Amino acid sequence: MGLTGIEILKMLPKKNCGECGVPTCLAFAMKVAAGQEDIGACPYVSDEVKEKVGEASAPPIRTVTLGSGDAKFEVGGETCLYRHEKRFEHPTGLAFLVTTAMNDEEVSARLARFNGLRYDRVGVELKADLVAVKDEGDKSAFESLVQKVRQDCPDAAIILMSEDADALKAGAQVCGDHKPLLYAATASNMDDMVSVAKETECPLAVKGETIGEAAELSEKIQGEGLKDLVIDTGARTIKAVFEDQVVCRRAAIKHKYKPLGFPTITFPCEMAEDSLTEAMITSVLIAKYAGICVLSDIHGDILFPLLLERLNIFTDPQRPMVVQEDIYPINGPDENSPVLITCNFSLTYFIVSGEIEGSKVPSWLLIKDTEGLSVLTAWAAGKFSADLIAQFVKKSGIEEKVKHRSLIIPGYLASIKGELEEELPDWKIQIGPREASHLPSYLKSWQPEG
Ligand code: SF4
Repeated sequence: MGLTGIEILKMLPKKNCGECGVPTCLAFAMKVAAGQEDIGACPYVSDEVKEKVGEASAPPIRTVTLGSGDAKFEVGGETCLYRHEKRFEHPTGLAFLVTTAMNDEEVSARLARFNGLRYDRVGVELKADLVAVKDEGDKSAFESLVQKVRQDCPDAAIILMSEDADALKAGAQVCGDHKPLLYAATASNMDDMVSVAKETECPLAVKGETIGEAAELSEKIQGEGLKDLVIDTGARTIKAVFEDQVVCRRAAIKHKYKPLGFPTITFPCEMAEDSLTEAMITSVLIAKYAGICVLSDIHGDILFPLLLERLNIFTDPQRPMVVQEDIYPINGPDENSPVLITCNFSLTYFIVSGEIEGSKVPSWLLIKDTEGLSVLTAWAAGKFSADLIAQFVKKSGIEEKVKHRSLIIPGYLASIKGELEEELPDWKIQIGPREASHLPSYLKSWQPEG
């Protein structure tokens, strides 16, 4: 059970010095209890208190870390069943396979796709996270393959897959500090795999034939002193794997059942004959609790929609996604290009910029900080009013970028035209379409007024 704020307060030094970034010890204790602050942020608490509070406030699903430095990949750490209760913490890791049975050309092509398939959305880089390196029975080929993956994809977290504990050990040694996930301890090889995990200090996947067996193994392995585990329930059909993900999450969160209090790993690559079915299964598992999904391969048409789905599900619902206030050039604009303005709610930005991009009309898009509110909500909240828009236009620097003085505002803000023209006497205000989908035809026939 977690500790209450008052219980935590009793263990704090009560200096009220604010060095933890929170003004008082009471406020800090409340935040620690709510999982919003780490007890370690107070420089005066003893290691004993850190351990006590840390254990009591640890999430029911353990956070497991792979990789190193900037290429660190975290999975687990979840505290709720439904996103709206708080938020989901760590996005499902997307992995793809390379095996010792593949030729160099195929391996290189897959690794090149890992490096090449990256997308920028709302200032966030979307990409696959892990490479699963599978040993098909050739230890030295496995070692070389791990070496190649480390070299060619330095920011990929790695899953080492082998039935041979020695091969896993050799692969882990190649990875060094870039800790890979060792896959997997089963009922028949548990002791050897536990030894390798201890020696290499790598997280270990636990694979059961059933969810019950996975829980049993997990309990035994925890008894051996290993803490960083990842659970494979052995399910290889969409129905079974879906059920198992739900059971694992509910058991850990609702019933604090420790043997299943770990992130899961799933294998859509072993559940489908074709890439589209694999993608469909993966999309279900992203939505329903999988920690890692291993696909057979990645291609842009499969990966991109999965990354977008993941971005949506793992976005904190209590914090609107925003883009930075700025001038965004689209399609290579010049001094004669139209200037449009809208709010910084990321969905609005995505839609408007996407339509402008699709129109192929070079344009300047001004994004005004409205604290993530959409156009009408921001206007109603006084964050997208004529005076604030005018202030932003003046300080944005757009006047140095264009010769004309025409500003296109969203159609829904038509009522502020007069007021905005008073605030910006040098500018003519043009009313854009209400719907972003009408922007391409509007822009194609646009003429400046000012
Ligand atoms: S740093 Fe520690 S002592 Fe100071 S206010 Fe924060 S919790 Fe209290």
